[in-house]
Amino acid sequence: MQKGHEEVWNNCLQIIKDNLANEFLYKTWFEPIRPLKLESKVLTIQVPSQYFCEFLEEHYVNLLKKTIRREIGQSAMLQYSIVLDSQSQYSTIQPSEDKYATSNNPVNVPININSNPTKDFPNPFILPGLKKIKINSQLNEALSFDNFVEGECNRLARSAGYAVAQNPGKTSFNPFFIYSGVGLGKTHLAHAIGLETKKNFPDKIVLYVSAEQFVHQYTDSCKNNTRNDFLQFYQMIDLLIIDDIQFFAKKTGTQDVFFQVFNSLHSTGKQIIITSDKTPAELCDFEQRVISRLKWGLSADLQLPDSQTKIKILESKLYKDGIEMPDDIIEYLAYNINTSVRELEGALISLLAQSSFNKKIITIDLAREMIDKFVRSNVREVSIEYIQKVVFDYFNLPIAKIQSSTRKREIVQARQLAMYFSKKLTKNSLAIIGSKCGNKDHATVLHACKAVTNLYNTDKKYKTWVDDLEKRIAN
Ligand code: ADP
Ligand code: MG
Repeated sequence: MQKGHEEVWNNCLQIIKDNLANEFLYKTWFEPIRPLKLESKVLTIQVPSQYFCEFLEEHYVNLLKKTIRREIGQSAMLQYSIVLDSQSQYSTIQPSEDKYATSNNPVNVPININSNPTKDFPNPFILPGLKKIKINSQLNEALSFDNFVEGECNRLARSAGYAVAQNPGKTSFNPFFIYSGVGLGKTHLAHAIGLETKKNFPDKIVLYVSAEQFVHQYTDSCKNNTRNDFLQFYQMIDLLIIDDIQFFAKKTGTQDVFFQVFNSLHSTGKQIIITSDKTPAELCDFEQRVISRLKWGLSADLQLPDSQTKIKILESKLYKDGIEMPDDIIEYLAYNINTSVRELEGALISLLAQSSFNKKIITIDLAREMIDKFVRSNVREVSIEYIQKVVFDYFNLPIAKIQSSTRKREIVQARQLAMYFSKKLTKNSLAIIGSKCGNKDHATVLHACKAVTNLYNTDKKYKTWVDDLEKRIAN
């Protein structure tokens, strides 16, 4: 009998665990992964972010390759499903030995599932009539109230959300509208309310959808002539969460159907939760009647946490992962990162990654270095375009050549250097760097970075170029 994805992945984890230097690496980079499916030798695993995925590929691709081949066979493939905020994306890697040797022929085929957003959303159009309807709520267990740290910055939104979960549809917070800038916890809070409601009322039908998913499902239903099924499906939800509603802007068809769903749910005492990057009044390109509905209930915002709350958030993440870190470093991070909770978490992960891979002890200096690179560089970050220009000028090459498909050595070399510095000196993902440097994929960029590092360590003249270039780019 064929093994299921869970079993296969569990076996892989055993092997991986045995091959890692320590428990910490395992906890940081493998525990968060979830196996999603195994179909015709393609194992799909869910990873928390693009950064995470690239990190795995940078450091663990060989281990993963060997392990899944051992479990599934020589033709095994690995596919990542990246959890992004309002969208997910698949990227496939074929764990073949010559992956990097042929990096000009992309082996990594990113397939964007936005064109088929119902993929992770099994049959949303179940007709009512059955006594008990089971649907996939799309809630992430990790985003619970327990993991949502309370502070001045979120007190109203958090307590109102909690109240909603005790009494969905029955408070005056309907709709409950949560707004804030990016990375401040809207999605987390919305999931927390959904999870808490399900805990309190296991029979209620709870559904989380990103506004983007909603739009795609609606347009699909129009195409397939199933608009009525779509409406019927949404009308039977007891707690509907729509994340990032600003995405409905200019989409009048979707706004109309949302208006209908809203009225139907609201009039039958069902709960609606909306998140947005603006207040209802500030939403542009929305129909007035939709905006007026959004104003009916309670709007609450999330602010950037103060330093004490930031410290608590960091401590809670570290505690959850069983990792210890000196207080002064936690404070340093909390005091120096003033953009969003997401950046705060990103900095923590980078710091942990830096220390585990360079086998450095985490010190204030390391934290400072890392913050300079990842956070402060926000202010004076060099752009990929600037790096490209400096590199191509240095070798007296026309900049337009970076986009060409020529295999001329000098061009390939300059392009590799531009990729290397973009990775080193900017916060862009490998995928973005690749797309801007001649439309290459992230494996090619990774290959370039490795090639540059190798040459740097073995070729004196090359080392001078790289050092020279780095100075020029920095100035
Ligand atoms: P948004 O939807 O506003 O862009 P998210 O909900 O995705 O932001 O939050 C970004 C990250 O910060 C998530 O990993 C989330 O778990 C974390 N986060 C935000 N606020 C808190 C909080 N109060 N306590 C713990 N983690 C938080
Ligand atoms: Mg969000």
